[in-house]
Amino acid sequence: MIKDNLNDIRQQINEACVKANRLPEEVTLIAVSKTKPISMLEEVYHCGCRHFGENKVQELVEKYEALPKDIVWHMIGHLQTNKVKYIIDKVSYIHSVDSIRLAQVISNEAKKRNVTMNIFIEVNIAMEQSKFGVLKEDAFALVKEISQLPNIKIVGLMAIAPYVVNSEDNRQYFVNLRELCVDIRNKNLDNVTMNELSFGMSGDYLVAISEGSTFVRVGTSIFGNRK
Ligand SMILES: *Cc1c(COP(=O)(O)O)cnc(C)c1O
Repeated sequence: MIKDNLNDIRQQINEACVKANRLPEEVTLIAVSKTKPISMLEEVYHCGCRHFGENKVQELVEKYEALPKDIVWHMIGHLQTNKVKYIIDKVSYIHSVDSIRLAQVISNEAKKRNVTMNIFIEVNIAMEQSKFGVLKEDAFALVKEISQLPNIKIVGLMAIAPYVVNSEDNRQYFVNLRELCVDIRNKNLDNVTMNELSFGMSGDYLVAISEGSTFVRVGTSIFGNRK
């Protein structure tokens, strides 16, 4: 089941890349395993997947301890400053940075452990009240401020698009975020590479890839529905 889902998704990703004149290696599939048991993550691991995403600190730490150490962990959920210390040496990417305060704590903890943390700036692209993230117009100022902190690399922008029935409805949001990413990249700030775009979920990852996504975060289409 999981194996079939993954095969389907990988094939669709490849086709979307070909259509968009992109190389499949440019797109990393993150298996979003929140709420799912370790046995299911093991199954996904044995199908060759090495990137996993979680949105809760405690769950991420438990799964990290239980699973092979060559997994690349992504923190994709809202992160409280007092919990950064638990994941700083476990995750390779934090996708949900939307304040200078959080970035400062990440920087401090990373410095203590002598690591550099890769972060995404989360942007609230559709200006939804229910969502975290900075507004588009505030993103550059935040990037600029964070870029001055040690032990942090800003690799790109992240967004959670609205839930829609027709994935095409999210295309313009992805275009806007890609353009914002290019604008910021062109400022050539220290510690800011801005080569990555983290968007696209089960409902819209193919549209996301056609608009430049480099990390798609897929849960339901791999693992089935969550309770
Ligand atoms: C749950 C979640 C996903 C995956 O959503 P699906 O629709 O199940 O693919 C992606 N990104 C974030 C931030 C999530 O919390």
